[in-house]
Amino acid sequence: MANNGQHFVAVIGGAVSGSVSAEILADSGIRVVVFEQNTRPYGKIEDGLPRWHVEQRKQEYSKIDARMKKPGVTFVPCAKLGRDIDFKDLCDNWVFSAVILANGAWRDRDLGVPGADEYIDKGLVYQNPFIYWYNHKNEKGYDGPRYDTPDETLVVGGGLASIDVVKVLQLENYEKAFKARGIQTSMHELEKGIPAVCKKHGIKPEDLGVKGCLLIYRRREQDMPLAQPPENATPEQIAKTESVRQKVLRLAREKFLFRFQDRRLTQGLVVENGRLVGLKVAETLVEGRKASALPGTEHELRAPMIISSIGSVPEFIPGVAMKGEYYTFTNEQEARYTGYENVFGVGNVVTGQGNIRASLVHSQKVTEQVVENYLGVGEGNGDRDISGAFAPAEAKAAARAEAVGLMVKKAPKLSASQIGEIEKRIAALHQKVGYTGDYDAWIAKVIPPDLE
Ligand SMILES: Cc1cc2nc3c(=O)[nH]c(=O)nc-3n(C[C@H](O)[C@H](O)[C@H](O)COP(=O)(O)OP(=O)(O)OC[C@H]3O[C@@H](n4cnc5c(N)ncnc54)[C@H](O)[C@@H]3O)c2cc1C
Repeated sequence: MANNGQHFVAVIGGAVSGSVSAEILADSGIRVVVFEQNTRPYGKIEDGLPRWHVEQRKQEYSKIDARMKKPGVTFVPCAKLGRDIDFKDLCDNWVFSAVILANGAWRDRDLGVPGADEYIDKGLVYQNPFIYWYNHKNEKGYDGPRYDTPDETLVVGGGLASIDVVKVLQLENYEKAFKARGIQTSMHELEKGIPAVCKKHGIKPEDLGVKGCLLIYRRREQDMPLAQPPENATPEQIAKTESVRQKVLRLAREKFLFRFQDRRLTQGLVVENGRLVGLKVAETLVEGRKASALPGTEHELRAPMIISSIGSVPEFIPGVAMKGEYYTFTNEQEARYTGYENVFGVGNVVTGQGNIRASLVHSQKVTEQVVENYLGVGEGNGDRDISGAFAPAEAKAAARAEAVGLMVKKAPKLSASQIGEIEKRIAALHQKVGYTGDYDAWIAKVIPPDLE
């Protein structure tokens, strides 16, 4: 490892935001080390974006690979902040010029009903492990939890990720129903639309006996965070966004045949024999962003499984202070961690994983296309380009990294011995996992042969 710089920045997390930050800093002559908890640095692209987005996933993997191989960037796999690296030790003793937290949002937001988490895997499943399972379940080496996908599962959500969840359920159940009739279909075929596959085989969807999962959302369907209006939107732009949301939902329901109820607020649990068998919900009155339960409307929704898909927030890391669900960053713009002058956040770790806000850099029309392509409900020519979904995250990470780079360059340079100490610690982490510094060789070794 050449001692070719006197400013040295640590980035935690190697996916979209982390790799973009590393590239920007390295391009400006600052040395960077990326500590990634997993063997591969692909984050939400590998584990959150459903595996039917085959081409997009490959493209994003190779963009991340190229950034990781930039001169001046050192990759450290299997190095988890909070497990292999202590946060306070990193900030106090490693003496990096700056630390950038780019570790994303991997903790599911609580369902919001006291005691619900006692029923995890006893009727209750959260979205992140569910999609992780779905993306990896066909790999021979997968040894994580396995999930059933019973028909009539109840999904609590409303955002794009919850539509991914209902799609997974519907695709799995229709594939099984076709198989029971001796017809082989595939995820890829069904993902283009279940009615079209039924038509091809001369079967009416209702004759397959799948009742369909139920998605519930607490506000009105036109409020669903499936598309966002631009900043300072006019009333016309808001109305347009609301009609896009309704259209997208309608198209998704037509293609994937799930059931939907809006204005439903989770109020309590229905438990039988130590298992969650349903939710108590109430209808809501929606006033602006507020959805309040209407007295007298409470009822039970029973289901063989309940999946909570109401957002992802950063994981707890020992030593990292929290304010509510988030780390204590000064504000969204600067995202400086309050405990240290030189610790910053980029990407989902700052705002959580909300909704694709492509509108930040694109017109509403393009945003609409991105969302339709994302959900596979577009009426276009089958183009499934969703790069617009990642462009804002890349642009934001680049801007933040540039600002950190400018700040770092104003700070005193690290001495050769300080850099030597950092290098020693990095070498120890590399040695622990057998990483030789050859990124391509490592990736070739850790990519499962059957990774989809
Ligand atoms: C359903 C869905 C919704 C989306 N919504 C949005 C959106 O709202 N806005 C938007 O801009 N984009 C959105 N996207 C696009 C995209 O997911 C994100 O923008 C982008 O992938 C986020 O990248 P990230 O690097 O911030 O986080 P991640 O992809 O989550 O990467 C974090 C990385 O840090 C690693 N890591 C985590 N914890 C640690 C630790 N303790 N130590 C070391 N490493 C760690 C992880 O393994 C991972 O590699 C969405 C995508 C999907 C699939």
